[in-house]
Amino acid sequence: MHSVKNRISIGETIAGNPIDIVTYTLAAPVKGKRLHIQSGMHGGEITYWVQHRLYKFLQENLKAGEVVFIPCANPASWDQRSYFYTFGKFDLYDGKDCNSHFPGKAEGTLHQRIAHELFALAKQCDLGLDLHTARASNPYVIFTKESYLPLVRDVGFKYNYMDDIVTPETAGSFDYAMDPAGIDNLCIECGSHDEHNAAKIEEVFNGILRLLARLDMIDKNLAPPAPADCYYFRDHKKILTRAAGFVRYDVKMGADFKKGDTLFTLHPSRDLGEELPEIASEDGVMYKRAPTHIYRLGDETLHYVPKEWLVRL
Ligand SMILES: [Zn+2]
Repeated sequence: MHSVKNRISIGETIAGNPIDIVTYTLAAPVKGKRLHIQSGMHGGEITYWVQHRLYKFLQENLKAGEVVFIPCANPASWDQRSYFYTFGKFDLYDGKDCNSHFPGKAEGTLHQRIAHELFALAKQCDLGLDLHTARASNPYVIFTKESYLPLVRDVGFKYNYMDDIVTPETAGSFDYAMDPAGIDNLCIECGSHDEHNAAKIEEVFNGILRLLARLDMIDKNLAPPAPADCYYFRDHKKILTRAAGFVRYDVKMGADFKKGDTLFTLHPSRDLGEELPEIASEDGVMYKRAPTHIYRLGDETLHYVPKEWLVRL
């Protein structure tokens, strides 16, 4: 096994210290496919656990090809910190989503330069994985084309989101550069922000093993079979708070609910004695919610998928 740790220089911080993207490459003695796995485009989204688990495993088990690991793809986004909170979703200088600059610009802003270097590396691969976390959630895949469905089925998460329409909110994300370049790619939401959850790490790890087996980079018997229940959806619904206050969630993450169930209970701060139950208007599944119990008027609470919008894979 050939192993290389590399630094891609972006420039310097104001204090004159280097800003580098650190990469790790494992290369098997036998030629094969190339997998690109990047984590941490958004600071604070810890998917480092999955990278670590996979890196250790593949040091022993990669049989063909190359894997490039980028555990902190956007180093600038990890340094925006206030108390214990890492504000790495948006650049606090220009207010833009850190994952909105692909394919990047060599002579552009700091985040455009980072995207440019990442894409220069990613466009040499056969499959690109962009690891994120989503608010409070279970692992799910976001993918942009129907032709990726076999890959999504391999990863094997229960609910997955086909987001095949580019909007101003999603333009410039990793897939926005990879799709036109003709390179297969998936965005994997690995769980909740700032979380360590051994079961979710294992679920994502096993999903990536099945992709590696598909690419013939590891022995097929090293990848456990995908779970039977696998669905995707093309749209979802968001519930906004009807008043400012505090929310207690009553349905569990990933759980099915029925029309008439209480999804959450809002305690509006206008009256200490008041409770506002949010009643489901249809059958569905809760797949993501905001990572807080504190809400302004009109904030997003949970995202759910109506049952009839789920397509079995
Ligand atoms: Zn993210």
